[in-house]
Amino acid sequence: MGSPSTSRLSRFETSLSKSSCFHFSSCLSFSSVLCVTGWAHTQVGPRDGLQNESELVPTEDKLHLIRLLKESGLSVVEATSFVSPKWVPQMADHVQILTALDPASDIAVSYPVLTPNFKGFEAALTAGAREVAIFTAASEAFVKRNINCSIDESIDRFADVCDAASTAGVRVRGYVSCVAACPYEGPTEPEVVAQVSERLIKLGCYEVSLGDTIGAGTPGKFGHMLEAVLKRVPPEKLAVHCHDTYGQALANILVALQMGISVVDASVAGLGGCPYAEGATGNVATEDVLYMLDGLGIETGVDMDKLVDAGRFISQVIQRPIASRAANAVLAKRERTTLQTQ
Ligand SMILES: [Zn+2]
Repeated sequence: MGSPSTSRLSRFETSLSKSSCFHFSSCLSFSSVLCVTGWAHTQVGPRDGLQNESELVPTEDKLHLIRLLKESGLSVVEATSFVSPKWVPQMADHVQILTALDPASDIAVSYPVLTPNFKGFEAALTAGAREVAIFTAASEAFVKRNINCSIDESIDRFADVCDAASTAGVRVRGYVSCVAACPYEGPTEPEVVAQVSERLIKLGCYEVSLGDTIGAGTPGKFGHMLEAVLKRVPPEKLAVHCHDTYGQALANILVALQMGISVVDASVAGLGGCPYAEGATGNVATEDVLYMLDGLGIETGVDMDKLVDAGRFISQVIQRPIASRAANAVLAKRERTTLQTQ
């Protein structure tokens, strides 16, 4: 997952040489990708994408972004984080955001919120959350450095959140950061990712999102990691959350789709970044994922033009260039068409 830079907790996040074992050539056929049904998406732009912005984004602009994303056809929009404002000032308006969205009244869209601890969960519940997200990592060094405990302890800390959520009828999603590599430890052992993912499912998470936090994964290794996880967790309980630092995100997502994982996290306009890796970029851009899926003939129900407008809106607010190739192509095409008709 992306990496909330300013806080301890928020920092938690976020070769085809073994092709004989990965069966790359036989598995990666477009026909199998085309068989993917029920593709789903978690939009993480308003939370993962904005949390690292040092300039505070007005609450009204965040809400407008979320409405635009909803109007584009997205049905899961991670709205905010119930982390302490001391750690992540950008998310200090979490109560206003969630109250305004009123998840209980909006059956069309799910608005999960990140809850770093039980206190955050209670505040989220009071504000009307119907779904929360918890997070850990597959790297001891990452966990130790960021919340000063072990992976085991980090998972234990979420047991009470999961119990209370179950009682309240609130769904819990789990994030595992550093599934491909850790900025401190280097490459991640796939078996560790598998074990941590399984523990989050056993804790009560309905789904675990596998985060390539620093975007270091490549399709072969990413596929091997997924293979290990799939031995312990079924594909319908997994999602992938890829950052695009090395330009590998779409390729890694394609591998995941091909392996039966159909939930993809992405961020409109590629919002976000990671402070732990030089040059690290944000999450894969939703527009780029959508363009790929459309090309594969996978029905998404998302309107590309509306999505591009949402990305352009927030990019103007934070005064950053749009980090989506597809969005920039759509906008360039629009401009050409406008000039031609004048
Ligand atoms: Zn992320």
